[in-house]
Amino acid sequence: MTTIDLPDRFTGAVVEEFGPELTIKEVDLPEPGPNQALVKLLASGICHTDLHAAEGDWPVKPEPPFIPGHEGVGEVVALGPGEHEVGIGDLVGNVWLWSACGTCEFCRTGWETLCNEAEYGGYTVDGSFGQYMLVDTRYCARIPEGSDPLEVAPILCAGVTVYKGLRMTETRPGQFVVISGVGGLGHIAVQYAVAMGMRVIAVDVAEDKLSLAKKHGAEFTVNARDEDPAAAVEAYTKGGAHGVLVTAVHPQAFAQAIGMARKGGTIVFNGLPPGEFPAPIFEIVFKALTIRGSLVGTRQDLEEALDFYARGKIHPTVHECKLDDVNSVFEDMKQGKIDGRMAIRY
Ligand code: NAD
Ligand code: ZN
Ligand code: ZN
Repeated sequence: MTTIDLPDRFTGAVVEEFGPELTIKEVDLPEPGPNQALVKLLASGICHTDLHAAEGDWPVKPEPPFIPGHEGVGEVVALGPGEHEVGIGDLVGNVWLWSACGTCEFCRTGWETLCNEAEYGGYTVDGSFGQYMLVDTRYCARIPEGSDPLEVAPILCAGVTVYKGLRMTETRPGQFVVISGVGGLGHIAVQYAVAMGMRVIAVDVAEDKLSLAKKHGAEFTVNARDEDPAAAVEAYTKGGAHGVLVTAVHPQAFAQAIGMARKGGTIVFNGLPPGEFPAPIFEIVFKALTIRGSLVGTRQDLEEALDFYARGKIHPTVHECKLDDVNSVFEDMKQGKIDGRMAIRY
């Protein structure tokens, strides 16, 4: 192992038991094994998934104690034994798809995100809510030169997820896409959709989110709290949107997606609120709709998503905070008070 001056312990935000309160405490510095690097963090985005992880509200739960965070950007400070594709001093990031087996049916067919052996950053392995973290050097993000660590961080989850999700809607340039939910994921989705030539309609339940969507290039917005989004989208697009991407954190938005879609349209679900929604069979069949889920993205998707950022097409709205603020950020996130993404600066 190659090392530079390293402490024995570091400060991290730990989920000791399920609930929104993380404990800020000293933890042992991990040692990188084969295919692993130790990274000193510069920044980490705070994703709504981290809140689901801390609360343990998904059917498949992480095991406390663990450190959440999967939008971490930092510098490689030590490498485990063996060869690596990254070197000391390189800027890398941890992602949700922390590692995969590389050999199964899914890994071999471009669906590594579905690998049964996958490890998830900040969920099954410790993540980026701390001064240091481990990454798998085969799966970590390579941060483009000239990136601002705080601004690029949300690309590592929010960015790649919506970039892939938008592609899965199969919306072509010039066609309408609805982005439902304009939070951390959604405000970046608006930007990717614009960059990909789509005509963007944004739907949320808060006016400030809709203003943010307009700022990032949405041509029409609907407040689903004040009016029926299906009727509004139908009228504006004369028949419904070709694609609908749902990033919202309420099941109601999933049900509304069906009404907003055009005949033959494709609806992609990115959001992961616990729960279910009623799906009207008649409407799905008679409109010949495709409804699919989409989970983050592959390493190739990530590279493409980062390339959009590096070419200046995507500018996440990021507000800076400290590691100590993580609990109050979770509180604001629950109340839908965050504008864009919060990111920790170390
Ligand atoms: P966020 O809290 O930043 O944003 C959520 C947005 O949903 C907010 O703008 C909120 O106002 C909006 N919203 C709430 N109720 C709504 C409704 N009824 N209609 C429309 N909008 C509504 O969260 P985020 O970080 O953007 O994450 C969003 C969801 O996506 C989370 O459930 C997260 O776990 C999930 N996620 C999934 C993937 C994936 O790979 N599929 C990746 C990352 C995050
Ligand atoms: Zn995430
Ligand atoms: Zn696999």
